[in-house]
Amino acid sequence: MAVDSSLSSSKNDKFAKALQFIEDMTKNTDKVQENVLAEILGRNADTEYLRRFNLIGATDRDTFKSKIPVITYEDLLPEIQRIANGDRSPILCSQPISEFLTSSGTSAGERKLMPTISEEMDRRQLLYSLLIPVMDLYVPGLDKGKGLYFLFIKAETKTPSGLVARPVLTSYYKSDHFKNRPYDPYNVYTSPDEAILCLDSFQSMYTQMLCGLLMRHQVLRVGAVFASGLLRAIRFLQTNWRQLAHDISTGSLHPRITDPAIQECMSKILKPNPDLAEFITKECEDDNWEGIIPRIWPNTKYLDVIVTGAMAQYRSLLDFYSGGLPQACTMYASSECYFGLNLKPMTKPDDVSYTIMPNMGYFEFIPHDTADPVELSRGSLPRLVDLADVEVGKEYELVVTTYSGLCRYRVGDILRVTDFHNLAPQFKFIRRKNVLLSIDADKTDELELQKAVENAAALLREFDTTLVEYTSYADTDTIPGHYVIYWELLIRDQTNPPSHGVLEKCCLVMEESLNSVYRQCRVADNSVGPLEIRVVKNGTFEELMDYAISRGASINQYKAPRCVSFTPIVELLDARVLSVHFSPATPHWNPGKRV
Ligand code: AMP
Repeated sequence: MAVDSSLSSSKNDKFAKALQFIEDMTKNTDKVQENVLAEILGRNADTEYLRRFNLIGATDRDTFKSKIPVITYEDLLPEIQRIANGDRSPILCSQPISEFLTSSGTSAGERKLMPTISEEMDRRQLLYSLLIPVMDLYVPGLDKGKGLYFLFIKAETKTPSGLVARPVLTSYYKSDHFKNRPYDPYNVYTSPDEAILCLDSFQSMYTQMLCGLLMRHQVLRVGAVFASGLLRAIRFLQTNWRQLAHDISTGSLHPRITDPAIQECMSKILKPNPDLAEFITKECEDDNWEGIIPRIWPNTKYLDVIVTGAMAQYRSLLDFYSGGLPQACTMYASSECYFGLNLKPMTKPDDVSYTIMPNMGYFEFIPHDTADPVELSRGSLPRLVDLADVEVGKEYELVVTTYSGLCRYRVGDILRVTDFHNLAPQFKFIRRKNVLLSIDADKTDELELQKAVENAAALLREFDTTLVEYTSYADTDTIPGHYVIYWELLIRDQTNPPSHGVLEKCCLVMEESLNSVYRQCRVADNSVGPLEIRVVKNGTFEELMDYAISRGASINQYKAPRCVSFTPIVELLDARVLSVHFSPATPHWNPGKRV
């Protein structure tokens, strides 16, 4: 077992306590886990859920594992519905549910609702507080400048009983933890809170970009939560630099910025600066945007964005715009629970591993071997692997028990153990189960795509046309990225084929059929572009099969892949394209719709 002692060698006294905390947690992984479980079970002994399984006050691992089933979100739906509808009895948790966090994972097409309690915010804050002490080991001097971070809140809704439902980051940015944070020279942002807290995404992004440009020499790191968000900001600059340069030149604010709080704070920041406006114009009017980030923000030491998991597809584009700046992935978290952090944030994205902090929840692992999968029946009581007992090189599915009342809940993430830090395992994020397509927060699984394709293909019937085969591709060469669906059609009546207009309509029908997170990304966030159908020549999917068989696939078991990413296959498909069609409108999305 490799023991990494780098955390003890900090030269910065300010961070000694935080680093020592990480050392203490990771040196006592199993003991901390045992205590966390005992604390959770002790507090929640009288909840309806634990009583149902006859835990009778036991707080030890053995009893817990032998009585509490491993579950998914769907198993908990009745309880979640009752809480949403106003049942305040201790169903899952002895502490009152303060709000629901809306996960980007969906169930029956709608975002999952994760109940949370107010003290969870402290736990999240604790994890955030460890990020800079770790980063300071690798990039000192972050107190000498600012971070240009593109951070946003999203619309919130209410359940029938009045509980707020919103994404975890919206909850955090709107909390006192964020709004009343004490001044910390290591965590100064160029974005004013007024801009971060503005619900209108144009006004928010515009102001954040404007401030980033005004303070360009002070910026030491550039970031967003996910890579897709940072690329969206670059795209925004591409479309809006003329107006931004105009505002900087004249010291006046774009008329679309109508939020009084932003107007007020910008009146103190924005002064005419023709030289800066001229510089921005010169850089942005050049067609070549390679290395635009360090050109505009020359003191940037690294990008702070997640480029692991579904975001890996954006690494090369970020490399292009950043001139190869390091891409630091600092944290691994979810609406259910914040898991852990990357103790070597300057590691290349391919080698990033996250250390799950044993104090954040109680973690178990289902061995995940694609050749010999473990099938868990509903409500089963398997003996899962504990955090301290996972083995290097093996893959596992993460199961969590949280202070908010989730018990043995399958998160859906597949992780591989790469190493240990002290006695705490470090995990490479492999993938999320059942996700076929993802551009931003959207996650589309095979079944959802199948349904969407079926709904769209129904429009072909009146043209005596059938869909022979299809596959999909997440095209991230465009910003924002978009879904591409390759269709092979059998057109029986060549005198009356489906027109361009009909195929455009098929694109829209597909979008209407996809889940609410997809539609929100399309409509409210503009983080996913219009869906595209590429009609390919007859026989293309047979060629695809020949190709797969030539590479070792079995003829008997061959199935057309429902999603492709391997470049030669995408090239093969693209070389057979007869026509392309884009969704002509945005799908329907209603922010108010909730349970
Ligand atoms: P949500 O519940 O919408 O907050 O999404 C949480 C999910 O995002 C996790 O379960 C992971 O699948 C994914 N995720 C979060 N952090 C990372 C990360 N650092 N790398 C890869 N995927 C991540």
